[in-house]
Amino acid sequence: MLNLYNSLSKKQEEIKIDKNDVRIYLCGPTVQSSPHLGHGRSAVVFDFFIRYLKYLNYSVLFVRNITDIDDKIIEKSQENNISYRELGNNVWKEFVLAHENLNCLVPDIEPRATAYISEIIKYIEQLIQNGFGYVTSSGVYYDVSKFEKYLQLSGRSIEEVRTGTRVDTQDDKNRAEDFALWKFSKEGEPSWDSPWGGGRPGWHIECSTMISETLGKTIDFHCGGIDLIFPHHENEIAQSKGVDINENFVNYWLHNGMLNLSGKKMSKSDGNVKLLNEYIDEYGGEVVRFFFLRAHYRSPQEFSEQLLKEAKKTLSNLTEFTKDVVAEPSDNDMVDIFVDCMNDDMNTPKLLGEIFQKVKDTNNLEQEKIIKIKQSVKFIFEILGFELKSPKPNIVDEKLLFKFFAQYDIRFNDIESAMIEFSRKREDFRNNKKYGEADKMREDLLEIGIVMNDGENVGWYWKNS
Ligand SMILES: [Zn+2]
Repeated sequence: MLNLYNSLSKKQEEIKIDKNDVRIYLCGPTVQSSPHLGHGRSAVVFDFFIRYLKYLNYSVLFVRNITDIDDKIIEKSQENNISYRELGNNVWKEFVLAHENLNCLVPDIEPRATAYISEIIKYIEQLIQNGFGYVTSSGVYYDVSKFEKYLQLSGRSIEEVRTGTRVDTQDDKNRAEDFALWKFSKEGEPSWDSPWGGGRPGWHIECSTMISETLGKTIDFHCGGIDLIFPHHENEIAQSKGVDINENFVNYWLHNGMLNLSGKKMSKSDGNVKLLNEYIDEYGGEVVRFFFLRAHYRSPQEFSEQLLKEAKKTLSNLTEFTKDVVAEPSDNDMVDIFVDCMNDDMNTPKLLGEIFQKVKDTNNLEQEKIIKIKQSVKFIFEILGFELKSPKPNIVDEKLLFKFFAQYDIRFNDIESAMIEFSRKREDFRNNKKYGEADKMREDLLEIGIVMNDGENVGWYWKNS
């Protein structure tokens, strides 16, 4: 049975949902600046989760939103002298690239907040009608005193919230703890018409509306970083209950832990950040993905380049161990271990520990049994979204390549640019109908282990990769 820790009940619970209709919402990025490692962690750990549900034959509808309008986006775009939309699109492309390289499944729906403005307005109208919203000269606010069970998720007290809230001098809300549903726009800011005046939605109302529009009033899993519990998720609950007090908004709240750099939380506000795509470029997406598998998703995870290097080494050992087999659940014991660990609140560090023990113990086993273990390891890793493929082998040493390309008057600096030059020369032969010479070049290339394709699959690759 699948058991997961529910942040609302604050205990591990057996998951009781309709397997044929599982609805998941993950709070996605606010597209204001390039993704950092923390974004990667949230995307990857919930990707493990969704892939595991699919392995269990759950039918999943997965939504991850894009917050493409908020104060910081406006601020940032004004600083850079571009529109909020241009900034958002640029940043979003970086997120797409990172998600792709980390091999995260593409959500079934990726709603953008600005595509839901009229629905958001309707949502706010409903809240006002039900007595939870009020209008002032700076915007529309949610009156938290009207919602009895406010702060149940975070466990904070209203005094804590009151003293911890920075009140903007321009705000004229009734209480410090009330939060904005709609903010009137200032001169030069993006603005949408509403019954109360031109402005933009608050962050929390965006998610509430996109959830109800894409998934309905009740969802099974609401996922996000632990830093979103307050105020974001707390306010989402307040809003959904404000619209319908009897509705069970979220069945299970799942939150991932933060990433620490030397014990410090990693966030945009301090300078602790090297960009996610920089690490992916340097180490490869699969190594970064594997790094996240090593910690329990709810725990804080320590980060350093040294730990990333260790992850790379371990992953390459696993790749080596499984390189000559196909993925197959042939060792029942291994599959049981996998399911037991994942069912136990996705205990991936425990799973890895058990797998490494099995791998270590293969020394004393007969060949047939070893193959089964290898196949099963590969099987488990494939379910979790790993390919375990060896990186492109550098079969030929540089001196030889230098000599090889020199025959064609090409100076070898790196293989990519040398091959561009090589292809160009060969193309010249073909254009002049000197096919014999062109073929000879291709044969020569094969001698050093590079295959060259013409026609539809034009390009080249290392023979053994
Ligand atoms: Zn959200």
